[in-house]
Amino acid sequence: HKYVYDFSEGNKELKELLGGKGANLAEMTNLGLPVPPGFTITTEACQAYLATGREPDGLAGQIEAHLESLERAMGKRLGDPQDPLLVSVRSGAKFSMPGMMETVLNVGLNDQSVVGLSAQAGGNDRFAWDSYRRLIQMFGKTVCEVPGEEFEHALDEAKHAKGTHNDLDLDADDLRGLVDAYKKIFLKHTGREFPQQPREQLDLAIRAVFESWNAERAVLYRRQERIPADLGTAVNVVTMVFGNLGPDSGTGVAFTRDPASGAQGIYGDYLANAQGEDVVAGIRNTVPLQELEQLDKASYDELLGIMARLEEHYKDLCDIEFTIERGKLWMLQTRVGKRTAAAAFVIAGQLVDEGLIDLDEALHRVNGAQLAQLMFPRFQLDHEFQPVAKGIGASPGAASGTVVFTSARAVELAAEGESVILVRRETNPDDLNGMIAAKGILTSRGGKTSHAAVVARGMGKTCVSGADEIEVNVPAKRFTVAGQTVNEGDVVSIDGTTGKVYLGEVPVMPSEVVQYFEGSLDPEHIDNALVRAVHRIMTHADGKRRLAVRTNADTGADAARARRFGAEGIGLCRTEHMFLGDRRELVERLILARAPGEREAALAALLPLQRADFEEIFREMDGLPVTVRLIDPPLHEFLPPLEQLAVNVAVAQERGEDVAKEEALLAAVRRMHEENPMLGLRGVRLGLVIPGLFAMQVRAIAEAAVSCARGGGVAKPEIMVPLVGAVQELETVRAEAEKIIAEVVGDSGVEVLIGTMIEVPRAALTAGQIAEAAEFFSFGTNDLTQMGWGFSRDDVEGAFFWRYLELGIFGISPFESIDRDGVGRLVRIAAEEGRAARPGLKLGICGEHGGDPDSVHFFHEVGLDYVSCSPFRVPVARLEAGRAVV
Ligand code: PEP
Ligand code: MG
Repeated sequence: HKYVYDFSEGNKELKELLGGKGANLAEMTNLGLPVPPGFTITTEACQAYLATGREPDGLAGQIEAHLESLERAMGKRLGDPQDPLLVSVRSGAKFSMPGMMETVLNVGLNDQSVVGLSAQAGGNDRFAWDSYRRLIQMFGKTVCEVPGEEFEHALDEAKHAKGTHNDLDLDADDLRGLVDAYKKIFLKHTGREFPQQPREQLDLAIRAVFESWNAERAVLYRRQERIPADLGTAVNVVTMVFGNLGPDSGTGVAFTRDPASGAQGIYGDYLANAQGEDVVAGIRNTVPLQELEQLDKASYDELLGIMARLEEHYKDLCDIEFTIERGKLWMLQTRVGKRTAAAAFVIAGQLVDEGLIDLDEALHRVNGAQLAQLMFPRFQLDHEFQPVAKGIGASPGAASGTVVFTSARAVELAAEGESVILVRRETNPDDLNGMIAAKGILTSRGGKTSHAAVVARGMGKTCVSGADEIEVNVPAKRFTVAGQTVNEGDVVSIDGTTGKVYLGEVPVMPSEVVQYFEGSLDPEHIDNALVRAVHRIMTHADGKRRLAVRTNADTGADAARARRFGAEGIGLCRTEHMFLGDRRELVERLILARAPGEREAALAALLPLQRADFEEIFREMDGLPVTVRLIDPPLHEFLPPLEQLAVNVAVAQERGEDVAKEEALLAAVRRMHEENPMLGLRGVRLGLVIPGLFAMQVRAIAEAAVSCARGGGVAKPEIMVPLVGAVQELETVRAEAEKIIAEVVGDSGVEVLIGTMIEVPRAALTAGQIAEAAEFFSFGTNDLTQMGWGFSRDDVEGAFFWRYLELGIFGISPFESIDRDGVGRLVRIAAEEGRAARPGLKLGICGEHGGDPDSVHFFHEVGLDYVSCSPFRVPVARLEAGRAVV
């Protein structure tokens, strides 16, 4: 089995086997770029090691052979006392896991070869001893678990003895002394001398890199980023090159375009006479890469040439790390670089212009999550505002408000119309009301899957979690950060995208992308690279996608907005929202009606109101289909709460007031009280129990459609029955509805479809029967998830999902993204069996999943005709439906 690949043997497609770093080093090697020679030990070797606790058979021999050929190529031997070859041992997994795993530099140095290194470096003793002490420090810490502080402490002591704070003031003798001190520390903690055998150093370092795959922080990171736990890391053994050999040496990082805005140009930092770790550690200040032109024009020109070459080759923004050793440029790493959401769109557009990629590829390179980010308002930041802390951007958006520390206070102030930011160490289910009331949530603990993060995302509320520089003191109602105290009542601003926290109120800027979708920015006539790129890619997505995109809307205003955002109809109009406000009294009369006459009067009063609602919506959606769902929630939701009412009645009776009306209401509320209303009298069940209710709604829909048609418009109503579990339910409703429709529609030319939600598991499993009575299905994946998993959709997110996420039981809430294996299977079965029974059956989805990027891909795969989502997510669904095709 081949476990070791020379750089010349790999390529960029082999990330799974060679890790990202190894695959790209191989790619650059084969492009003829100056990469220090080396080889990669595969992720398979790591997997075998982790499974058995020892190196797989044959690995040692293969390493030996590759090391020998490396030595031949370099004309040096590992550990040679005269002219030693030194190597770095670097981790590199398929997915980048920054700083999570280990690296050991300068492997091959020992008491003899340190002298040789010095001679090689032109008698630079200081450099050689500094390299040696770095090896012992890194090796001790990484490979042998020697506490890092002990080395730090010894280094501090050496500097103290010298009367300096700067490492660079230590000379060769000081560093030789430090090597002795380090060796003692090593001996004390490991019970053995620092290994002098270079091959032993190498083997132990490789093993340590393997093991670092399972380091606690790496495991946590993978869970957060949803990286599979069994991939393992590759190990790169690379010839050392030194950027700290004098002023003609140095090291730097660069991007081939601006990763923040996508603008073309040279973006990078350079540090002369330094090694990579110095740049990361921020020991000295870097200079802009452009200054390298003055320092070393030849290397600068070569670097620019290589960057252009890499872009052309990878056809994308690349980020690189390089080192210059005495005027010779070496490429240490490259990869397709991370970028902001805005840069992703801008760069994709530019690359199309440059002819490097086509529009399909551009569409592939951006995603709905990025587009969603661009649709949030942003802070308008100038130099005046500096963040005081940085946590995790847990739920995007920009929020400013008054600081409060308790849920109760949040509710109180919000009721007075104030914007509040709820600040907690971490939140728990008791904070739910406060979280609902707050404009944003800030916690000092917890990651992306903490309670605060999960719940805030579910609510679409801005949240920064785990801002650990913040010291929260709830009893004292204040927090401290960066030496400042923030009291309840002070104003802070939080950015849920970047995780940054600001004191005071930062002005908020509306999103240009939303302005474009709203139609107030014309992409052809403004100089805005982002808007132009979004326009171009969205247009392409629309041309490509097979899925139609509708919206969930139940007011004319929402419908109009969604239409501007590109909605091609309404997939769900929830009529229950039309029974609130001052119409509640009519509903109350309907519910309390004892005699048929009373009920009919109440229904007759509701009819014109409903008709007007639908007329408005049909007008806004002129020419497009509108799915109107008959009333769904339990009727008692329209009545006052039981306890409250009971108390009121008791108090009034006590006072001897006339409470006949209230008593009747109380009796009705008692009668209708359900222990489990979500599984009780709602949806179609209600329609079958309350005579005339559905009939009134059907009549209102049909009359509104006819009135639209008479006015010259085109209404395309689709009446949808909720919560159906058996075809008989639907048949009963259908028979009544058809009569009314026939009577109302007459010869107006209006066509009304009748269909059903598929949101009860039994409906999905008997879809073949149900399709006999339905002209369309719309999957209610909210209820289907609720009933499929047995998770109460109103309770579980705040109660225990954080724990499920932490344990990895699922990577994302199944209410947020469709559970393909379980709930998704129900959708698949119903789609197949429904279409088999009725070819041409229209299929849609109107649960929250309709606007979730990953779910949109699933619904495309299953072959639905459309997804329907909230107006704001319509562009995201359009984009993802296009991406599902390319
Ligand atoms: C659903 O259950 O997915 C659905 C769209 O209906 P509601 O959310 O109104 O229950
Ligand atoms: Mg439902």
